[in-house]
Amino acid sequence: MDIAQRFSGMDLISNGVFGYPSISWFMPIVYGSLGAIPALLTLFLDLDRTSDSLRSSNDNQNVYDFIIVGAGSAGAVIANRLSEHFNVLLLERGGNPNPLSFVPALAPILLNYPENDYMYRTVPQRSSCLSLNNRQSSWSRGRGLGGSSTLNLMVYLRGHPKDYDNWANVTGDERWSYKNVLPFFLKSEDYCVKCETNPNDVWEPYFHHKNGFLTVGKPPYQPLVEEFLQGCEWNGIPRVDLNAPYTQGAAAVTYTQRNGRRLNTYTAFLEPILQRKTLTILRYARAYKVLFRGDNNEAYGIEYIRHGRRRVAFATKEVILSAGSLDSAKLLMLSGIGPKDHLESLGIKTLVDLPVGKNIQDHIGTFPGPFIVNGPRSFNLDRDANLINAARFVNNGSGTLTTTGIHANAFFTSPRAHAEGNPDWPDTQWMFLGLGNWRVIDETFSHAFNVRYDVLKKFFDPIKGTDAFQITVMLSRPRARGEMLLRSADYRDNPIFDARYFEDPEGSDIKVMVEGCKRAVYVSENSPAFRRVGARLSPVPFPPCKHLEFRSDSYWECFVRHYSVSIYHYSGTTAMGPKGSPQAVVDPELRVQGTKRLRVIDAGIMPFVVTVNTNGPTIMIGERGAQFVLDTWKTYVKHGVHKPYP
Ligand SMILES: Cc1cc2nc3c(=O)[nH]c(=O)nc-3n(C[C@H](O)[C@H](O)[C@H](O)COP(=O)(O)OP(=O)(O)OC[C@H]3O[C@@H](n4cnc5c(N)ncnc54)[C@H](O)[C@@H]3O)c2cc1C
Repeated sequence: MDIAQRFSGMDLISNGVFGYPSISWFMPIVYGSLGAIPALLTLFLDLDRTSDSLRSSNDNQNVYDFIIVGAGSAGAVIANRLSEHFNVLLLERGGNPNPLSFVPALAPILLNYPENDYMYRTVPQRSSCLSLNNRQSSWSRGRGLGGSSTLNLMVYLRGHPKDYDNWANVTGDERWSYKNVLPFFLKSEDYCVKCETNPNDVWEPYFHHKNGFLTVGKPPYQPLVEEFLQGCEWNGIPRVDLNAPYTQGAAAVTYTQRNGRRLNTYTAFLEPILQRKTLTILRYARAYKVLFRGDNNEAYGIEYIRHGRRRVAFATKEVILSAGSLDSAKLLMLSGIGPKDHLESLGIKTLVDLPVGKNIQDHIGTFPGPFIVNGPRSFNLDRDANLINAARFVNNGSGTLTTTGIHANAFFTSPRAHAEGNPDWPDTQWMFLGLGNWRVIDETFSHAFNVRYDVLKKFFDPIKGTDAFQITVMLSRPRARGEMLLRSADYRDNPIFDARYFEDPEGSDIKVMVEGCKRAVYVSENSPAFRRVGARLSPVPFPPCKHLEFRSDSYWECFVRHYSVSIYHYSGTTAMGPKGSPQAVVDPELRVQGTKRLRVIDAGIMPFVVTVNTNGPTIMIGERGAQFVLDTWKTYVKHGVHKPYP
């Protein structure tokens, strides 16, 4: 079915009333509202923090079975599963999710505000990010209940079977193989079957589940997606269900979304169980130290600060760190678990010498395009953020505001993957963005990704007002490894992060990216589906690369090195491995080596980053990890010492 047919009704209303190219009367309201976002974020935070502070004096209990640090993608899941049987304290540094975060179309706009984003930055990069402000990659992290699932772009993908079979190999533990982690993906899932509205799409019921806590499904608005999927098919990348096993494949995006709104892990896993007496959630509670006792480094509590007061809580069974890959690693190091030389240089007594923070892997991305198309086919803020779409969103969760900007995905293998004998394990991802070039697209991208505004202004100015799409090329299996170090022994200081993108010893990461860009251009300009809509690469070269022959390999290499951004999938800082391995921070049951009663359960434990976006895999890690914990304490669960609480 042609995409123009699928959405023609909506387009007609949208264009007939507020027709592009003239800017509708509604635009001042849209731009005025966008301008008010910083003030709204501050206002919400102030009210939320003050009301929490007024209530916080009643909190006197400080002994629990389990303490979990961080209510993000993994932490919310674990708190749900453990509080079914045990008394659980969940400490979260931030507050309630900001109401604006539930509008998917605002997702890219809400990045890089301190009220809901830790706004970490890497050190200036040498081989990448050259057109970013000060060459620093923007490492956003979600702050508040739901963690990064409240801030992210909502793409839900599980990954390739080989991602997990590789983990099983690396750890020597079959429980991490694809076959064995699949039930933990299914356990959470509430698949939206009625969202399967495109009869051309493939979805495989065997790999989906209904009635879990996490609703996932295709969004109602999919601009230019059918053209993209046909283009991929034409180029040998078949339509598949990307949440089932595949070799290469493409599909419309699946979001963590319910009724068109964002579904973060707080709303999914915690809101439904807030009445449980066994679950205590403390917001605005910043943990800064794990307490240990005895020669075997047994964890027995957490020191934290809340509304200016230092406090301590004790765990009779375990302490679980789910503060995200960057903050769990920081907390371990502040508590004396990490590289001995580094900790001692800061005056921190080392309890266990482990490679914490050494193995950072992130997905780097770039945006070949924009590819200009004929007609009103893409999402264009100036036209599509109108009153009708606002009403649709509020009334029944449909319309253009249900999109975060990512509309489809494709995975394929590069020549490098073929050469290394992995022709069926993709190392490149395309994220399809059906985005036109609205008046402030340069500001939007500059703010979201920390790209220099002067560069993007020159790049977008000549094509503003056109309909278009972009294809994010993402390196799924990077070889480069980054590192993080504490800046000081003071918990208030942000660590030092070095991504080292494109600094792999063979220099092949950059080549995979260049191949991915060239293939994106080829499909966009030559496939019949895209030709029908007149797709062509913008004639404007990326300004810092304009001295090079446009479209040549050296041009694309320059483009990638300059216009490279983090896709926010930092992982591996507390990597798991075989028990006793000096390369591993946690064992296959996610227990921190050399300690007792302490686990890390979040994105940091991935020994190799999965080949897809990391939210779904981290939620699975939460489910898998919670089950390890329950298995450890199963005598209490089974023998009714702790009966399931209501
Ligand atoms: C901007 C952005 C876009 C992304 N887009 C996608 C996407 O579209 N799809 C996808 O699959 N993945 C995406 N990701 C990645 C994905 O969201 C993360 O990998 C995942 O959420 C990580 O989960 P986590 O549990 O490890 O950490 P988080 O979800 O970050 O949770 C950590 C929690 O710990 C809290 N915390 C931190 N330090 C402390 C402390 N000292 N004391 C108490 N609490 C603390 C934090 O406030 C936070 O709530 C994106 C990430 C970002 C930042």
